[in-house]
Amino acid sequence: MVNSLKAETFENENNTPVKATSFSKPLFTQLTQQAAVQHPVTHNNFITLLNQDLQRTLDLKLQLHTFFNILKQQLNISSLEYIHQFEDITLLFGESKHHNCNYEIITEGEPLGKLTFTRQKKFLKNELNTIEHAITALIYPLRNALNYYTALRYAFTDALTGAGNRMSLDNTLRKEIETAKRYRKDLSIAMIDLDKFKTINDNFGHSAGDQVLKDVVSCLSKNIRCTDSIFRYGGEEFVLLLSNTNNEGALIITERLRAMVAGLSCICDTQEIPITVSAGLTTLLPKKDDLDSLLKRSDKALYKAKEMGRNRVININLK
Ligand code: GH3
Ligand code: MG
Ligand code: MG
Repeated sequence: MVNSLKAETFENENNTPVKATSFSKPLFTQLTQQAAVQHPVTHNNFITLLNQDLQRTLDLKLQLHTFFNILKQQLNISSLEYIHQFEDITLLFGESKHHNCNYEIITEGEPLGKLTFTRQKKFLKNELNTIEHAITALIYPLRNALNYYTALRYAFTDALTGAGNRMSLDNTLRKEIETAKRYRKDLSIAMIDLDKFKTINDNFGHSAGDQVLKDVVSCLSKNIRCTDSIFRYGGEEFVLLLSNTNNEGALIITERLRAMVAGLSCICDTQEIPITVSAGLTTLLPKKDDLDSLLKRSDKALYKAKEMGRNRVININLK
């Protein structure tokens, strides 16, 4: 078993502070409160209790938040940042300060991410020791939480395009509809379908068709806001979910995306593959719509777009 911690301390760049949300009181807190009266918490106890607390959840954010809170009781630290580059995860607990120390965690050759602790005062050697010991208690719970995170991501992602899959669409859209109704927010969706995609497969081959699907999703994903999402609904059909977006705004976005896809250049054996999409756009009617009626209406608009000659957006706005 090879665990490696690469550590360094240096002046911090200014990170944007993010307030951590509160979670239920962990075991360690309860025990240290009792122990403080009767016995001091020994070093080994600290690591064991920390490890037990961290193993209570597979939720990465909750786990790191617990770790931060427990460590804060032992040491004066202002923030903990966790970054996993490959998984594209960044979490920040507390408020970043000037001095920092960093640990790159690698176990059995597997990178588990980078931890950055910050505070106002310089870290002392014995404090760095405490942090390093605490990290040893974090390693295996963190690895389990990361595996769980990856498994969940795969379960909700379309393997070919990286868009959300149908299950993810159902879950997300249901939640978005509830939220939009409760908080009186706008919600628009667009059903997007590649035009004459069968002909692309027939003329250029199935793998070129696959590449086109990837290119289209990549183009859509790069050009939407981070609060919007794209899901693969079926073969060459996608749903664009535009949170907090009224019909007028959604029409501008969808039209812009349509034009961008039409401008994509995808070459197969020196031949340019013509790519266009048609889209059916609609906006939630809070008093009348549910998931089915909303999807049905966008599908109806898409059908019209096809009927009217493709490479266009048809908007059904009943608001
Ligand atoms: P329209 O403009 O009316 O939408 O015509 P179309 O040819 O796009 O529609 P049609 O439903 O006739 O054909 C869809 C094609 O998409 C047929 C199917 O083989 C292809 N397809 C579905 N999923 C995939 C995939 O994952 N990869 C590839 N290469 N093709 C796929
Ligand atoms: Mg099609
Ligand atoms: Mg289709």
